[in-house]
Amino acid sequence: MVATATVERTASGVFGGVEPNAEWRDEVLRLAKERNAVILAHNYQLPEIQDIAHHTGDSLALSRIAAQSDAETIIFCGVHFMAETAKILAPRKTVLIPDERAGCSLADSITGAQLREWKAEHPGAVVVSYVNTTAEVKAETDICCTSSNAVDVVRSIPADREVLFCPDQFLGAHVKRETGRENLHIWAGECHVHAGINGPELAERAAANPDADLFIHPECGCATSALYLSGEGIVPAEKVKILSTGDMITAARSTKATKVLVATEVGMLHQLRKAAPEIDFRAVNDRASCTYMKMITPAALLRCVRDGLDEVHVDLETAKRAQGAVQRMIEIGQPGGGE
Ligand code: SF4
Repeated sequence: MVATATVERTASGVFGGVEPNAEWRDEVLRLAKERNAVILAHNYQLPEIQDIAHHTGDSLALSRIAAQSDAETIIFCGVHFMAETAKILAPRKTVLIPDERAGCSLADSITGAQLREWKAEHPGAVVVSYVNTTAEVKAETDICCTSSNAVDVVRSIPADREVLFCPDQFLGAHVKRETGRENLHIWAGECHVHAGINGPELAERAAANPDADLFIHPECGCATSALYLSGEGIVPAEKVKILSTGDMITAARSTKATKVLVATEVGMLHQLRKAAPEIDFRAVNDRASCTYMKMITPAALLRCVRDGLDEVHVDLETAKRAQGAVQRMIEIGQPGGGE
């Protein structure tokens, strides 16, 4: 009986002991209805979590839904900073994450204290933070950005103002190259999953699949290499598409290619294959799986919707300070523009 199933920690530490079958599905959806809850799932979630969610998307699209939803409770199947962002935008709603230990190595690469110190070294600088940051870092930020509007956000800042860009060094390098801005300082943070998708691997896969399009997330360690390869004519420039996860879905629907090499977390392949089943989507690196995202198991979701755990809290003062920066990102960013 799923309703009374004992959810246990497995040897690897995640919640297990529940099969994602039809009974599980019915029970999760029934309990969600009882709580007046909406289930949101990020594109990097396990396929069964993506399939049961009321909405699937990137972090920005899901934040917008959380802010506009009539539901009393938001169940955020993603990592902790994403659930925090939903709480910042919808402070009166109950926000739950099925496992609060689901962190993010990129968000962890800068703390509020480190950012305050950096700001003190550059008085008057404008702080631009990628959405993958904690609420505390967002509270110290002037403008939050997504991977698709980062260039426009930086361009909108007067040319004589210094800019501090954090936490992702690969996205920062992309913005610096696009804007040609010398007074842009970049924090040396990275996501261990995306950084692991490297240039030589991409070059090898591209050479073996000369007709394939390349969909590359700007956080990837290979994004810089992809631009270099296209600049050198090794890969035709029109084949290289630097895209946020949401924009990848849009591009999948319009590309003429029959094969696409995808450089981002492997969970993305599930939505791409659903969007364009006729295309052969292949991971540039099929080991690029985010263990934090995969902590949201069927058992964890059942525990969440059944027991109301784990609740996400952001103190009111921090939320108030972070809200302006997040709100600007929501207004400027295109739906589909987040991680
Ligand atoms: S894939 Fe990387 S950036 Fe995304 S949630 Fe996982 S650790 Fe964070």
